[in-house]
Amino acid sequence: MQMKTEVYKINPENPDMDIIALCADAIKRGKTVAFPTETVYGLGANALDENAVRKIFSAKGRPNDNPLILHVADILDVEKYAIDIPPIAYTLARIFWPGPLSMVLKKNNLVPMASTGGLHTAAFRMPSSKIALAIISKSGVPIAAPSANLSGKPSPTDGAHVIEDLSGRVDIILDAGRCRIGLESTVADLTSSPPVILRPGGISFDELRMVVPHLMKSYDSSDSDAPRSPGMKYTHYSPDASVIVVKGSMASTVEKINELTENNPRAGVLCSLETVDQYRTEIKICAGSRKNPDEIASRIFGSLRMFNKLDVDTIYTEYFDVGPMEDAIMNRLLKAASYEIIET
Ligand code: AMP
Ligand code: MG
Repeated sequence: MQMKTEVYKINPENPDMDIIALCADAIKRGKTVAFPTETVYGLGANALDENAVRKIFSAKGRPNDNPLILHVADILDVEKYAIDIPPIAYTLARIFWPGPLSMVLKKNNLVPMASTGGLHTAAFRMPSSKIALAIISKSGVPIAAPSANLSGKPSPTDGAHVIEDLSGRVDIILDAGRCRIGLESTVADLTSSPPVILRPGGISFDELRMVVPHLMKSYDSSDSDAPRSPGMKYTHYSPDASVIVVKGSMASTVEKINELTENNPRAGVLCSLETVDQYRTEIKICAGSRKNPDEIASRIFGSLRMFNKLDVDTIYTEYFDVGPMEDAIMNRLLKAASYEIIET
């Protein structure tokens, strides 16, 4: 696949409305537009247009049974495309929208099966990014948008990552620099009883539990035989090197990683500010301070991509048990590691 991709720089706080109009028009005409959100960059197309949605899957090389999230600009838009919406969905939307929460609901017939990977349910999210909201409202349709990376690669948290993966494969790429949150949305399935979280993300389990006390987690295992959420069974977030998670106290983690990297000049370490000076290997990337978990979260995907430039064959990463974002961070790193973990 080789097509002409137009790339525009755009200010996330004060977006150029001519560029927004151009993107909204492209969406209406069935084209693909990669745009920033507060979580990661999305590759968007008109969710109601089966042909447009197919372009997303082929640009990414995404398996077509992996459902897309439909991005809306208002809770009222959800009523146009979902049925049997439970009252709790409205409560969650009022508290957490716009923001990093996707809600799985029963879809109606306006939403083609191509958008939902063949499911009768669809995930909906209202992002808070000004650019994303403006494109959605101006286009007048829900925008299906998975992360704007090649399937299996770390999600893009900077315009440069999108250009790297999708240049020549999509119609338009907007570059607004780095994403604020840097990890994808929390996905909550409200069609099951009790409701479950299918993917941890920008909104923590504890926060959601305050509103939905019976909420359960459904993402803790590496059991690929019975994925609740179709996307779960696929390889995710893989940099070129293999990733191994090392879990233990800070002192034992450092000791173990030093031992493992001792005779391998192509080993790299993903660590925190608190430990970075204690590693003897040359190749280390510091995701941030453990006192600032949001910073670590926002740098995980970017760090994995940096290792690609360093020609490493193995990445040892610390286990970031850093409060409410731990689930989301470690879910991504454990997937990147295909659940390979060394406990010390
Ligand atoms: P991505 O857009 O790449 O961040 O992935 C979206 C993820 O949301 C999918 O891989 C699924 O895990 C989840 N998802 C989207 N729609 C549904 C749905 N209808 N039912 C269950 N999970 C969904
Ligand atoms: Mg993705």
